[in-house]
Amino acid sequence: MHSLSLKAALRVAGAMGVLVVAIRLAGVMLPVWGMVLLVVVMGASAYAVIHRLLAERLELARATLEQIHRYDFENLEATNLDEEGDELNALIDQVYQTGVGVEQKMRELQRIEHYRREFLGNVSHELKTPIFSIRGFAETLLDGALDDERVRQSFVEKIQRNAERLGNLAEDLGEVARIEMGELKMTMEPFSLLRVVREVVESFEPLAQSKAVTLGNQVPEDLPPIAGDRERIRQVLTNLVDNAIKYNNAGGHVEVVARLVPSSQVKVSIVDDGIGIEPEHIKRLTERFFRVDTSRSRSQGGTGLGLAIVKHILGAHDSHLMVESSPGRGSTFGFSLPTVREEG
Ligand code: ADP
Repeated sequence: MHSLSLKAALRVAGAMGVLVVAIRLAGVMLPVWGMVLLVVVMGASAYAVIHRLLAERLELARATLEQIHRYDFENLEATNLDEEGDELNALIDQVYQTGVGVEQKMRELQRIEHYRREFLGNVSHELKTPIFSIRGFAETLLDGALDDERVRQSFVEKIQRNAERLGNLAEDLGEVARIEMGELKMTMEPFSLLRVVREVVESFEPLAQSKAVTLGNQVPEDLPPIAGDRERIRQVLTNLVDNAIKYNNAGGHVEVVARLVPSSQVKVSIVDDGIGIEPEHIKRLTERFFRVDTSRSRSQGGTGLGLAIVKHILGAHDSHLMVESSPGRGSTFGFSLPTVREEG
């Protein structure tokens, strides 16, 4: 096992033997036992020194590399070799650090793999539900329901709703894929929040009316321009206002509020007095496909991806989503963006 030490010992002993013979040839007389003792002592010392200095630590490096090779990171232990060690200590430390790095990479790959499988499973589940519904309604219509005017109308509407859901899903999945691949490019420029909120509120008027929800805009006229990607912030507002209407009751209210806060930031809040969210669900809201009430979300055309997209967009603006909610009383979703000082 300790062949390095043994080889070194044999070489030193051999060298000593040659030296002793040379001394003898030079006429210096040493007793034979003395010469043998000298050779043996030198060989043994060489063995001990080499073994102590090199072999033990080389063995440690070898064992660590073997663990890495077997992906056995459980037993990968930091070698407490003194910091001011020699090159060999540095090498062992390097081997250990490599092991730690490989372990981190493996964990990351496992996490991504797990995530990918879960995502694919979710996507296939999300696709199946509307496709099965469409197929079911179409088959029932073809099997005779086409002749019943009332059933016909309602089934075609259901087919249309499910097709809409598929469309929403395709759109949100495309968006998530772009975000995941790092293709979410922001064009930061100053823009008027008031103008964007006006447009968003206007576009949601029909939906709000159909659900008997009042929609209000309380962004002050004199708010300074804010910095961000206008179209992406519009997307954030669209998702939040859409949710505030969807998860509301008839007679409910939704307000978009903005105010200047210290450190030149504008805090934007979408306030509703709708169904609210139980505290234990709040931290999961931005997870992909998470819904508090799946059937309610689906019946409203929800994909469970909206808030995940919102989180990414706000993250790209160095901002984050703030959520306050109380079940049965309503929710406030908010975020902050920096203002841009106007010239002059
Ligand atoms: P979805 O497409 O289901 O609306 P989101 O990612 O936008 O997906 O939202 C995730 C879930 O968070 C929703 O399914 C809903 O349960 C909950 N949620 C979001 N906004 C609100 C809100 N304003 N009030 C109550 N619940 C909400």
